[in-house]
Amino acid sequence: MPETTESLDRVMVIAAHPDDPEFGCAGTVVKWAGAGRQITYVLLTSGDKGSHDPDLRPGRLAALREGEQRAAAADLGVRQVIFLRHPDGILENTLELRRQLAALIREHRPHIVLTIDPWRHYQLHPDHRAAGQAALDAVYAAREWYIFPEQLVEGIDPWRVREVYLFWTDNADYWEDITPCLETRIAALMRHASQVGLDQGKLAERIRQRAREAGDGPGYAAAEAFKRFQL
Ligand SMILES: [Zn+2]
Repeated sequence: MPETTESLDRVMVIAAHPDDPEFGCAGTVVKWAGAGRQITYVLLTSGDKGSHDPDLRPGRLAALREGEQRAAAADLGVRQVIFLRHPDGILENTLELRRQLAALIREHRPHIVLTIDPWRHYQLHPDHRAAGQAALDAVYAAREWYIFPEQLVEGIDPWRVREVYLFWTDNADYWEDITPCLETRIAALMRHASQVGLDQGKLAERIRQRAREAGDGPGYAAAEAFKRFQL
């Protein structure tokens, strides 16, 4: 847990696709949920293009992937899953998306936001870059009185997120020890049956390996790595 006098118990995870949270930060999510933190997921798309099967139409795939995401989130103790249903594969960091996310931040008042590092070198997926950028721009907007002031109606005030954790980063400076949560984390990932392929044993081994490597520096058996900053 971060050192602070304030209890940072509301957490929002903002990601591009169903399965991003489970690939990126699910060990941390299940650990924090177990410690009493209230976790909300916000998925910007429903991953409706995430299949090479031409018979699987985008609408059906989106419904399937939302179901997989809800099941994974339930395994991890996530309280709420919100889908914004932007089109998969062509996500853009528009002012409209920033406005939507700022409204959610002002409504849910997360102390902590976890999202994708948009500055990772060679982050080729445009949705991943756009999602991280939009989340950070919304964190900034949400705390300002003069940005999207029409949202500041009765009961809604500007909200300052206290900490941001970026996953899939080249510049990690914070490691969460997920040793006791590793297998729960892997099981939650496997809920994304449409995405994880048939060789689940191999994928699980890759996740264990990555968690071991991330734990090398801080001396944990398994870890997830983040770039963290405080606001
Ligand atoms: Zn993704």
